[in-house]
Amino acid sequence: MTAGKISGKENKDKGKCEDSNCPVHGRLKCRGRSFTGTVISTRMQKTAVVEWERRNYLRKYERFEKRRSKVMTHNTICINAKEGDIVKIMECRPLSKSKNFVIVEVLGKERLFKERMEAEEESKVKKDDKKSDDKKVESEEAE
Ligand SMILES: [Zn+2]
Repeated sequence: MTAGKISGKENKDKGKCEDSNCPVHGRLKCRGRSFTGTVISTRMQKTAVVEWERRNYLRKYERFEKRRSKVMTHNTICINAKEGDIVKIMECRPLSKSKNFVIVEVLGKERLFKERMEAEEESKVKKDDKKSDDKKVESEEAE
């Protein structure tokens, strides 16, 4: 009885991952580029959207600007990254139309992730409001 229970626990940790596209338990080979970014969405099945910031050099102004990269990555059950996690991703063969990356490791949680997302959402809403207001003004003028 007890032995069975122990093996069951082991199954939960290791044996349960039957994903052939898992970089640890499956046959998926990782090669190419690797990045670290933050998971911003896990609403799709086995897929996470990972975003990170990069610096782009502008020669004219001799300084850097901030730009963001966003890719879809394969999120296996055994890794199970959640929104707000900082993850390491590796390039792999195309797994679907838009997935060429796989999450290899969860490094930690981003502090103030919720606050950042809420602030971003608020700014989006404000922009939308402004647009709709402009439209209203235009239509009133037209009348
Ligand atoms: Zn796995």
